[in-house]
Formats: sequence, structure tokens, C-alpha cells
Amino acid sequence: MMYQRSSQLFAEAEKVIPGGVNSPVRAFKAVGGTPIFVKSAKGAYLYDEDGNKLIDYINSWGPMVLGHAYAPVVEAVIEKAKLGTSFGMPTELETQIAALAVSMVPNIDKIRFVNSGTEACMSAIRLARGYTKRDKIIKFAGCYHGHSDSFLIQAGSGAVTFGSPNSPGVTEGTAKDTLLAKYNDLENVATLINANKNEIAAIIIEPVAGNMGCIPPNKGFLEGLRQVCTENGILLIFDEVMTGFRLARGGVQELFNIKADIVTFGKVIGGGLPVGAFAARAEIMNYLAPIGPVYQAGTLSGNPLAMAAGLAMLQALDNDRAIFTRLEEKTAYLEAGISRVLKANNVVFTINRVGSMISVHFDAAPVTDFKSAANGDNETFKKFFHGLLNEGVYIAPSAYETWFITDALTYEDLDFTIQAIDKVSKTF
Ligand SMILES: *Cc1c(COP(=O)(O)O)cnc(C)c1O
Repeated sequence: MMYQRSSQLFAEAEKVIPGGVNSPVRAFKAVGGTPIFVKSAKGAYLYDEDGNKLIDYINSWGPMVLGHAYAPVVEAVIEKAKLGTSFGMPTELETQIAALAVSMVPNIDKIRFVNSGTEACMSAIRLARGYTKRDKIIKFAGCYHGHSDSFLIQAGSGAVTFGSPNSPGVTEGTAKDTLLAKYNDLENVATLINANKNEIAAIIIEPVAGNMGCIPPNKGFLEGLRQVCTENGILLIFDEVMTGFRLARGGVQELFNIKADIVTFGKVIGGGLPVGAFAARAEIMNYLAPIGPVYQAGTLSGNPLAMAAGLAMLQALDNDRAIFTRLEEKTAYLEAGISRVLKANNVVFTINRVGSMISVHFDAAPVTDFKSAANGDNETFKKFFHGLLNEGVYIAPSAYETWFITDALTYEDLDFTIQAIDKVSKTF
């Protein structure tokens, strides 16, 4: 495939946008080469500026769970746009999407809409800190909760239990309030809690991790977190920005029957427009301004176009609950196919999958946390990525990403993809 025009467009973009992109992973740094510029997308396919058609396994990093340019979402946005694009005043639409979200997700009474997953997680920890009157949080290495300061933290050196900044610009002062734990390691969490008695406001987690590839929680891990949180007056925050409205109608809380105290959303909930949200039982949500002391706001929060897109998306998911079963079946089919051809070609690999989240790791050992995710063979991944791209299959340009399966994929698309993987893996 030719990417001449994409390369030219990237060169132009680099002059006026840092790295040519508005979000770093898009720049292909992890895999080499230059990014593909998209012209349009429909259903399971991307059409790029060079006229190539690609089967899309990123789907805008998750939102397009029903495919690109999904007609009810597109129509809802067009109709709303004609009536004005933003008011900074309440609209009935906001109550409609809030009521629907609250009816779909377990254990939440109220929800507030923001403009991104980052904002949702940032606001959720502020709320947790305000509610518990404690400063520290625990997050897990390899979990991503957006790019706000409190989350850009890596393990501290030596014996210190608090984190240190992993980006310049994040202060040591902020970093010391974020404790870093190992995913799937309850003992590690207990140690942190004991060393910081009555200081921890919240534990935030991707209840199925998706930002170090797909990593399922071990049996008993989420239950264990729930228990230590309850015992220690700590709020459990499920970051369901990726998993929400994807793994089940009610997200991971429903899937594994575990109660979180605060839940954050993004991606699917906005139907492809910039939307995030955070939600909890009323007692917690009532701590927010204007009725409570914790400040949180947004000029464009609850924007009518964004709410119209999100509402159309949630209604579609609410009306056809078989969607989640179909997604699971398609992804399981893909998993089986990939396993079959990689085995036949003697490739060393591990596949992780939960529902419609799946990742392929070029390592024989189980991938259960950030450390094991980082062990994968990145050179093989690069060949895999570029080989698939050449066959017209677009996966995320980083070995740390989950593939996002869309219901728009047909079994022919999946067979085509499996054949492409067969062909590409013969060249490893
Ligand atoms: C994508 C993501 C975020 C950040 O959302 P943005 O909309 O990119 O700010 C937060 N948490 C998780 C789990 C995510 O996957």
C-alpha cells in the first residue's frame, strides 16, 4: 500500500503541531514509519488520504463499538447542531442521558458529564479526597487514567513507597500523594495501606486493564480490593473509561458483580464526541459544587452535540442487549483464529482477552501486570504492525494497546484478518 499523501500531510503537520499529532501515540514512534491520515470511516473500515481501505481494530480507541459513522449517532448530532451548538445553560438532553446511564450502570445514583476521560478521572480523585478528607491515592503501574498530574507517576526509587513524576512538569509535591501498586497483587496493596494508615482517599483501577495490553484481574483480585477499601474507609474507583458500555451494559461492576464507589467513563459514552463522566451514589456525588464543597466545572460540559451523540449510542446499546454477546463471540472467534495461525507458524505468543478487548503479546509467559507486559518482543510487534498494515489491517501502533472490536466487523473481515496474520507471521 502507498502512503505518499499521508507522509506529505504528516510533514506539513509537524511544522505547526508538536510531533505532528494532538496525542502522542498517533505519531507511530513505537513502531516507526509515519502515521496514516484518515479521510473518512464507515462501519468497520477506515479510508485514508491515499485511497487505501483498512479494517480498523482501534475504532478511535474504543468509542466506535457499533462502527464508524453509526447512523443514529450521526443523525442525532446533525439535528442538534441545527438548534445551536452550545449554550452554557441546562438542557433536557443532559437529564435524559444521565437518567439512561444511571439506569444501565449498577450502584450509581448520579452522574456528572465532563469532556474527556482524563477530566473524569481527575475529578473523581478530587471528589474522593474531598469526601474522605484524605490526600493520598493508590494507582497501579501500567494503568492509565488520563494525563492529569496525579496519574503521571512512576515507581519511586529504593525503599520509598510513594511515586515520583514520570513526566517533567509534574511536581514532586503531587507525586508524593500517589502510591504505586502492582496490578493483580493484593499483598502489595495491603503493604501500602498499612504504611499509610488513614491517609489513603482512594484506590483507582482499570478493573480490566486495557492500557498495557488487555490484562484481566486475577480471580479474587477485585473482590480483595473491595474488601480492603471497605475495611479502611477507602473509596474504590473503577476507571471504566475503556470498559464501560463495552464489556457489559453495566460495565465491569456488572460483569464481575463487584461494587465500586465511584465510576469513571469516557470513550463509548460519548459516541465518538469528546465526553467523559463520573458517577457514584448520591451521598458521594452530593459533595460536588454547587451543593457540596468540592469544586468541578466545565464551559462545554454537557454540550448538546456531545450529549446527543452519547444518548444515541447508549440507547442503541440499551435497546439491543445482544450486542455484548455478539461482540464477545466475534472477539473469541478472532482469538481462536489468531492462536491457530500463530501456533502453526511457531510464533511465541500470549493472547489476553476479556469480552471485546484483546491483545497479542510476543512472549510465552503469562501477561498479568505491567512488568510482564513490558517483556514482549517489540521487534516482532513492529513487524506484525507494519505487515498487517500492508495487508490492510490497522491495529494500534503500540504493543501496549488493546484492540477494540466493533460490532460492525463481519466474520469475513475476521477471516481476512486471520489470514493476514497467518501471512505476516510467516515472515517473522
Ligand atoms: C482513554 C482512557 C482514559 C483517558 O481518557 P481521555 O478521553 O483520553 O482523556 C482514562 N482511563 C482509561 C482507562 C482510558 O482508557
